[in-house]
Amino acid sequence: MKYFSTRGAGPVSLDDALRTGIARDGGLFLPEALPAFDVAAFDGAETITGVARVLLRPFFEGSSLMAELDEILAETYRFPIPATPLPAAGRDVSLLELFHGPTAAFKDVGAGFLAACLTRLEGDLEDPLTILVATSGDTGGAVAAAFDERPGMRVAVLFPDGRVSARQAHQLSCWSDNVVSLKVRGSFDDCQALVKGAMADAGLSAKHRFSSANSINIGRLLPQSTYYADAGLRHYRRTGNRAGFVVPTGNLGNAFACVMAREMGLPIGPIVLATNANRTIADYFETLKWLPRASLQTLASAMDVGDPSNMERLRRLLGEADVLREQLGVLSVDDDRIRTSIRQDFEAFGFATCPHTATATYTWRHLDRELADAHDWILVSTAHPAKFETIVEPLIGEEVPVPPELAELLSRPANARTIEPALASLATVLG
Ligand SMILES: *Cc1c(COP(=O)(O)O)cnc(C)c1O
Repeated sequence: MKYFSTRGAGPVSLDDALRTGIARDGGLFLPEALPAFDVAAFDGAETITGVARVLLRPFFEGSSLMAELDEILAETYRFPIPATPLPAAGRDVSLLELFHGPTAAFKDVGAGFLAACLTRLEGDLEDPLTILVATSGDTGGAVAAAFDERPGMRVAVLFPDGRVSARQAHQLSCWSDNVVSLKVRGSFDDCQALVKGAMADAGLSAKHRFSSANSINIGRLLPQSTYYADAGLRHYRRTGNRAGFVVPTGNLGNAFACVMAREMGLPIGPIVLATNANRTIADYFETLKWLPRASLQTLASAMDVGDPSNMERLRRLLGEADVLREQLGVLSVDDDRIRTSIRQDFEAFGFATCPHTATATYTWRHLDRELADAHDWILVSTAHPAKFETIVEPLIGEEVPVPPELAELLSRPANARTIEPALASLATVLG
């Protein structure tokens, strides 16, 4: 399989698309064509690893990683991804729990897969690759966890001092020696500027072999499509129905993976995007005008995106707003509604949801009646509520139990170095 940029450059191999992340012309990589499957193609594939083996094989045709695909998959699915039935009147509704990975958020799946691929492509004990990540919270932890203890790989995580929660800071700083955790005296934008500055510096780049593991890498999207395929198939085998999916959406990476799975023929019904108060996608569908803007801060902070990068992929794959709005639903859920939804979820389900997941449960409750009744639904849960306990606990009036994976991380010693938002400070700590 060859890969092309959304802006035309290419073709490149999967290996090069994984290595470089973004295309030369500034576009995002897409496969030249999506393979087509019918349900029978997955006969005998009873686990997500089995489903992934069938689904991802065509994407690895011609890649040096093909022979190691099984090992890569074994490293990716080290935790369960269950769909838990929800008490709901009428249709069959469940919650797809993507939060059982090491950092309790869905990004663990994509980061783990990408790390397994990049280590095999680029890992070098003599001359390690250095992955630079600027993070406002979730991404940095998932990338650190994925590359922790991987030979020939080093990670530098940069996060804004005092602007991530205590638990998030701990998660960003509790790893082995090959993960350098850096508390930057500045904002998230300062962290991002440092990463860009370091990558653009020829001397530093040559010395440290910089790379990135950001969310636009095709190596994060491909594995995400496997949990939609697996959940869709399970539901279809059990009920004979194509379930609809409601996906909490920020940069559109997770939802794009769901669209890809449906385009490849997997049994997936309607797809509805749930965003927070950042209305760029909702406004695009309504007005047909694409107007990216600065992001607003909301309770669902990992979805605070005003210019979702993966819209470029979605438009390339499906078309413009007039087409997109026929194929996808969208609802923008503001903070008041997120609060309401967290309370309602707790009352109805007996457990808490995180603020991101609560945008999906809200959206499901407010689906057009006819649409809601015509399908079974799978609501996507992107993070464990214990990561956002300062928001969730006051709303439900109880403590959220910390899941074992997270408790294990929080019990480790944490260690971060503080640096100034200056390239020279970063260069010093990298050695
Ligand atoms: C990153 C993230 C999202 C948004 O996912 P996108 O792929 O950016 O749309 C939603 N929820 C949580 C918890 C996240 O960390």
